[in-house]
Amino acid sequence: MLSELIKNKNLFSHLYKIDKEIAERYRQLPCPHCGGPLYFSNYMRKPRGEPDDVSEKYFIRFSLCCGAEGCRKRFMPPSCRFLGRKIYWFAVILCVLTDWQNSPEKITLFDWSIRTGISRNTIKRWLALFHDKFPASRTWLKIRGQVSACVSNNKLPSSLINYFQTLKSTAKDALVASLIFLSGGAKIRAG
Ligand SMILES: [Zn+2]
Repeated sequence: MLSELIKNKNLFSHLYKIDKEIAERYRQLPCPHCGGPLYFSNYMRKPRGEPDDVSEKYFIRFSLCCGAEGCRKRFMPPSCRFLGRKIYWFAVILCVLTDWQNSPEKITLFDWSIRTGISRNTIKRWLALFHDKFPASRTWLKIRGQVSACVSNNKLPSSLINYFQTLKSTAKDALVASLIFLSGGAKIRAG
């Protein structure tokens, strides 16, 4: 089960390092609004779903702010740890949904909620996001073409993670690749 991965605190330090690297690359770019210099203006998040003893350092949301007088716009670099304003870690959301979608026997959301300790309404909202909104989103339309046509829009996010599992040697690598891909951070990381 993919959910085993989110019990390992090393995953969270690994994802933090990736986010930091992506944020640093964005910081070196000019402000997308005025071309001014960007500075860090990070803040703390209070995410849910991590194992005990994960350092609070990994809860930092990297954020950038333009230093030019009259602009000062904030800019959020992509993050593979946080999905917008969702409270749970992005990795937790992907693992919980993927394990449920991949389970050979049909498990009701009620039972899945008990097994994961996450409320049924929360899981339902995540499913609705990936089923109804995400496939039509600009983010997805922009990156969709970079992965195989076998990644079904109707079965996200498991179809994407299952696809990366065929390319990567471990489940952890597949999860991390999916998170980077979905965050939109893959391009700047490669460049
Ligand atoms: Zn600016």
